Amino acid sequence: MSSVRKPDWLKMRPPSGQEFTDIRKRLRERNLHTVCEEANCPNLGECWSGGAGTGDGAGGTATFMLMGDRCSRACNFCDVQTGGMEPLDPDEPANVAEAIAEIGLDYVVLTSVDRDDLPDQGAGHFAETIREIKARHPGILVEVLIPDFQGEDHLVRKIIDAEPDVIAHNVETVERLQFPVRDRRAGYEQSLGVLEQVERESDVYTKTSIMLGHGEYDHEVYRTLADLRERGVDIVTLGQYLRPSRDHLEVRRYDHPDKYETWRRVAEEELDFLYCASGPMVRSSYKAGELFVDAVLR
Ligand code: SF4
Ligand code: SF4
Repeated sequence: MSSVRKPDWLKMRPPSGQEFTDIRKRLRERNLHTVCEEANCPNLGECWSGGAGTGDGAGGTATFMLMGDRCSRACNFCDVQTGGMEPLDPDEPANVAEAIAEIGLDYVVLTSVDRDDLPDQGAGHFAETIREIKARHPGILVEVLIPDFQGEDHLVRKIIDAEPDVIAHNVETVERLQFPVRDRRAGYEQSLGVLEQVERESDVYTKTSIMLGHGEYDHEVYRTLADLRERGVDIVTLGQYLRPSRDHLEVRRYDHPDKYETWRRVAEEELDFLYCASGPMVRSSYKAGELFVDAVLR
């Protein structure tokens, strides 16, 4: 199947607004890098200006990447570089926490590359960062988007024990397309298992994300949503896969925004997810603070 043409509804709007400008200035002053900017995320303006309204800070959501910019895995949809892993920076948890507290965000998303090269796959470092943030900024809500930790329960438990507010782990695509979309060390059941463990062992909210556009059928998307609900997953997001370069998987289909709205209704009204963010430009952390507060805390 050949690649399809990008539709008009995927045109990006440049971010603007006072909150966006303020947060960017504060990030620059502290030399702090967000996934939002580095990935040139189309939702930057909306997310940073979101105003989750839980604290007295600048509001909004931003996503920070931990443990370097090189991944031990090679997913065929992802633009992060593979291999050449660097040692962890032991000061990163405290530095990130300090900067986040100063910037005054209400809601922060922490994510990371996969670190299969480390004895604990980076779980301890992740947990320490959560604790440091909560200690310096008790009002902040912390969402973590974690790797699968190869399905090792004791590593997932390290994250649970650090008491974030939301634990996200992305199933990424439907069961049939896990390969070639994801690295071979990942897998559908393994990812469902991580989410199920969090549900079983804690009161922390769980979240996952599905990309559309890899050639999945509607009945497979529905099955995935149903499987996630069966495991107790609370929140789901759906967004369009965009090809980072010609070396990555081709886009098989662009769904119209109306289709995304249909999936939102199915997820929220039929399957009873707490909320579903669904749209061509939606990414896992899309307006995460604002939507979480609306759905859960209000
Ligand atoms: Fe990208 Fe995550 Fe896959 Fe690494 S594990 S290649 S960061 S999607
Ligand atoms: Fe940042 Fe995520 Fe929002 Fe993009 S969707 S701007 S990465 S918080």
